[in-house]
Amino acid sequence: MQGLMMTQALTIGSLMAHAQRLHPHQQIVSVTADHGVFRYAYRDCFARSARLANALARLGMDRGDRVATLAWNDHRHMELYYAVSCSGGICHTVNPRLFPEQIRWILDHAEARLLFIDAMFLPLVEKLAPALQHIEHIVVMSGAQAMPATALPNVLCYETLLEEADAHFDWPTLDADDAAALCYTSGTTGNPKGVLYSHRALLLHAYACTMPDVMNLARHDVVLPVVPMFHVNAWGVPYAAILVGAKLVLPGPKMGDGETLAGLMDDEGVTLALGVPTVWQGLLEYLRKSSRKLRTLRRTIVGGSACPLSMMQAFEREQNVWVHHAWGMTELSPLGTFNAPPPGYDALPEDEQARLRASQGRPVFGIELKIVDDDNTQLPWDGKAFGALKVRGPWVCSGYYRETDNTASHDADGWFDTGDVASIDADGYMTITDRTKDVIKSGGEWISSIALENIALSHPGVRAAAVIGVQHKKWDERPLLLIVPGEPAPTRDAMLAHFEGRVAKWWIPDDVVFVDELPLTATGKISKLTLRQRYADHALPGDG
Ligand code: AMP
Repeated sequence: MQGLMMTQALTIGSLMAHAQRLHPHQQIVSVTADHGVFRYAYRDCFARSARLANALARLGMDRGDRVATLAWNDHRHMELYYAVSCSGGICHTVNPRLFPEQIRWILDHAEARLLFIDAMFLPLVEKLAPALQHIEHIVVMSGAQAMPATALPNVLCYETLLEEADAHFDWPTLDADDAAALCYTSGTTGNPKGVLYSHRALLLHAYACTMPDVMNLARHDVVLPVVPMFHVNAWGVPYAAILVGAKLVLPGPKMGDGETLAGLMDDEGVTLALGVPTVWQGLLEYLRKSSRKLRTLRRTIVGGSACPLSMMQAFEREQNVWVHHAWGMTELSPLGTFNAPPPGYDALPEDEQARLRASQGRPVFGIELKIVDDDNTQLPWDGKAFGALKVRGPWVCSGYYRETDNTASHDADGWFDTGDVASIDADGYMTITDRTKDVIKSGGEWISSIALENIALSHPGVRAAAVIGVQHKKWDERPLLLIVPGEPAPTRDAMLAHFEGRVAKWWIPDDVVFVDELPLTATGKISKLTLRQRYADHALPGDG
């Protein structure tokens, strides 16, 4: 027997309608290239989204069309998120930090006909334009007075389009399973892969994000996503914040600038900020140098790569800011696990607290996890066994855009192989030990590069660290530690001695290389691939 309940579709449009009715005066504040700090209310955002939807229709956007963006986090990008998805299009965010050839490939693969860009990306687009096969119009997200000159024939001004558009738009009724957004993963091998989010997935994900043991988002929060809107929808914040009616602060292109971030946080009363570890490292260094204390920030959510325990502790001790560790992926919209302290946490011994904090947290309801061995046999949740991490859930991709065969990424039962290696303890706290391709295989045993990096980073003379496996005649691979030293810089021997007693002897790196900086990927993570290529011929001591 079926239940007698209504079956209203879970769509981004319903989210917009709710917020427009319930939180019309809540603010969105953003740093923009042409306006300085721009401030308006939700209702202004949605009113402009309606104009934009009319403009999109006039430019020929049909149901299911991809509308591409190359843009930072600001109010115009928000308007696109809502105008495109709620009028039946697919908001296709593209990462401007990728190699130009990858951007061209992605735009061609998605067959987007409309491209919205920040003015600063016009030179890039001018170079790409002759090779773009499907783009018909390029819209620069700027006011008429700040429009850059260009020789391209098909460039339009965002604000002029909005001025000329009708204010009323009849939002269509969409299906929850209709596609709403598209984001490509910046795979390190092969071509990027498109993850096509449905309305339902984005909405369920937004609900999950707001829960108390997850982002714990409320109307009185002021949220600053320092994760770009071109990277997994800024971790869903543009939907989750709107769902609860929180004030949203968007940093524009100033993501990596500690001073701007600290200024925005204090000026706007930010209570929660989200980003990758490299961003928080930069902010922490700025705060230390300027002896500045953040006034309102109480929580940050850090994910995208492993957050070192030392950084969490530094934020807590120096800034009274609690760092939540979270794990996710583009393919998971992105949230998979979230680290909130368990009941009784304060009474736990310090080393147990540290173990729990360093973990990537527990799966949020909606996400199922399992770890398996090479034969796809499930491994126990004992905190010791580690294996390939697989996931399942309503906001996990079931395949990639325009790829008919998903057998490389999904097993016969539909579980998605994350490419991560993890252990899970009896309480469900999951710890990522590595990406499958980053794990170091020494004499048939696995060494976790993340565990070694965490130890290196707990040394006060280390600003950044990475561990990679390099070829070894006897052991196949051995760990090589690369560090960006702080002041005073540790010696090689002191660095290696720091590992003693903290890991098994055979885990201790064979060598240390001091570098000025570590290479980053387009999503701000340390590029182990580049490091492996760079140090492929590194001669380890004693390997002669
Ligand atoms: P992306 O799809 O670009 O967001 O990358 C997803 C990958 O980032 C995951 O598969 C992990 O390897 C890594 N990742 C994300 N969050 C964390 C975390 N908290 N700790 C360790 N690795 C992470």
